Amino acid sequence: MMKHHCPWPVYHIEIPERLSCVLDILENEGFMEKMETFPAREATEAEISIVHSQRLIDDVKTTENMNVEQLEEFSQKYEDMYFNQNTWTCAKLAAGCSIDLVKKVLDTRESGFAAVRTPGHHAMVDKSCGFCVFNNVAIAAKHALEYGAKRVLVVDWDVHAGQGTQECIEDVEGVRLVSIHRFEDGVFWPNLPQSAVHSKFRNTVNVPLNGVGFEDGDYFAMMQLVVLPMITDFSPDLIIVSCGFDAALGDPEGHMKVTPAGYANMTRMLQNTGIPMAVILEGGYFLPSVETDALFVVRALLDEYVPPVEELSPMRKELTDVIRRIYKFYKDDYPTFSSLGSLCDKLSKFAFKDEKEYRGERNQKPPYATRSDHPKIDEEALKAAHQKILHLRGAYEKDLKKSSSYRKLKTRVQKDTSKLLSLDGEVVVVNEDVFPIVKLTLLSAVDPLYAAEGRRKYIQNGKLSEKTLEQLAADMEDFRRHELFTAAPVYQF
Ligand SMILES: [Zn+2]
Repeated sequence: MMKHHCPWPVYHIEIPERLSCVLDILENEGFMEKMETFPAREATEAEISIVHSQRLIDDVKTTENMNVEQLEEFSQKYEDMYFNQNTWTCAKLAAGCSIDLVKKVLDTRESGFAAVRTPGHHAMVDKSCGFCVFNNVAIAAKHALEYGAKRVLVVDWDVHAGQGTQECIEDVEGVRLVSIHRFEDGVFWPNLPQSAVHSKFRNTVNVPLNGVGFEDGDYFAMMQLVVLPMITDFSPDLIIVSCGFDAALGDPEGHMKVTPAGYANMTRMLQNTGIPMAVILEGGYFLPSVETDALFVVRALLDEYVPPVEELSPMRKELTDVIRRIYKFYKDDYPTFSSLGSLCDKLSKFAFKDEKEYRGERNQKPPYATRSDHPKIDEEALKAAHQKILHLRGAYEKDLKKSSSYRKLKTRVQKDTSKLLSLDGEVVVVNEDVFPIVKLTLLSAVDPLYAAEGRRKYIQNGKLSEKTLEQLAADMEDFRRHELFTAAPVYQF
């Protein structure tokens, strides 16, 4: 899968080293030995056609024997794509590995990681798009259904909207997508109205971020307030992660600030649901982050200790409106969203305004540019981000040594006493007003069944009684006293 690269001379960010750096760090840090590894295999055309049109498959196949000039001309047919003579094979390998991974995960109920290229989540039924030839995640999800899974949730935390997956699974009963992405009111690529909260794709929940610089605390909030409640209600038997690392610190595409510990803790939050996970590589263009993020996600998947994030910032205010818009728009599909929405309305200090979401425009059409510049990261920023990653890795190393006595907590919630145990050593800061929300969402993270009962008990007809509020306040004191509550950012509803 390393033989796919841009064959004409142009600066491009989708390079083979994105994959080799991941494999190298896992090898060098001894993780290859700890994992069962499987040889890559090409998906058959029949397997790919579970999602894609025969026309697209035949079209991509023709690139195998083209010269560079022909390849560049061919690439103009698809938005933001390059093809070389190896692309056809590499794309089949990426799809084949993804299919094999979900089968293995379903068989063993153990989680796994697919280090693959070409990436997949922008590819649509009849179109390759945005560096993505075939949609690995959609192909894997549909094969998982054939293989016996009843409900599959795709969690897409690549910084770009998973619009390809959204379209590929549009009519697929049993597969849902939650996509967290940079949106900026539609000004950020792929500039589509369908990436906003309000869209006609009912089995996709979009979490559009209208800005840059979102940090670990914001991402934790999105996991706890959107993704985990979805898991509670949808109850998937497989989680597939569209695992882009381009929301990472230093990434020239994303301009977000997620740290390696951030990715590891998000992985752990999903793992705490007890649902097996297939994590499939997507984007990520700042190699020091990509390799470190991959290492720490794999640590989490292997149930090893993952370090806490260095600084846990409060959730940004802008996110509040997006999350409340999601609660409102999807309240009939997800009962937990309905409950949380009612809680927000009751407890919030801020009035909710449902503003216009899309201010973008879209005028790209074929022939697409094949030499358009991807922003080169500015050298100073690159150096600073690299220093930060090195600093974090140093801090994590110390932490890993300190934590030799770490044990994975088997039971996160004791049902009889309602005591919440920690998510791996974080100190919690909780705004009192939103404690019920935090509690229920964290409970969802660790024990969906308990959360379901909790909802019934605490929320009657979408309203909290005074007595319940008193009880929750008392619970919170109890948690504080016992320092049992962890890993939650400050929510500013
Ligand atoms: Zn991306």
